[in-house]
Amino acid sequence: MSSPRQFVENFYQGKAAAHAATRTLLQELYTKSFSGRLLEHSGHFLPSFRTPEICEETEDLNGCTLVFTKDDLRRGVVKRERFHLSPAGDTWKILRIDWDCTWCHNTGVFSGAPCDKCGGSGWRDPIHKFLNPTLD
Ligand SMILES: [Zn+2]
Repeated sequence: MSSPRQFVENFYQGKAAAHAATRTLLQELYTKSFSGRLLEHSGHFLPSFRTPEICEETEDLNGCTLVFTKDDLRRGVVKRERFHLSPAGDTWKILRIDWDCTWCHNTGVFSGAPCDKCGGSGWRDPIHKFLNPTLD
């Protein structure tokens, strides 16, 4: 069985391949559909994808393995993700992917109090808002 870190690296390699295939299909569509300056600048309409750096792996209190990533989007802006992995046969499955909380900057504290956007954890589950649409 691969390490959790290797599993997440393979996951990102798969995402990068899917993005590359999508870019190829979209470029073909733009070439058929666009003209003039729009065609010259069609690259602006293509999705981009960057593979983040795998930073660390550790176990959490519930027995999941956590893998942390970070991506330097631009100067001073870093996006972090936290993968929750569970063994499944001879591989791993991703149970959850958290994003760093942009309100408290991953500290869990906002305006001197526990951050209510992430419950003070510094991490947000993006699926949570889809399951609970009345929450932010
Ligand atoms: Zn927060």
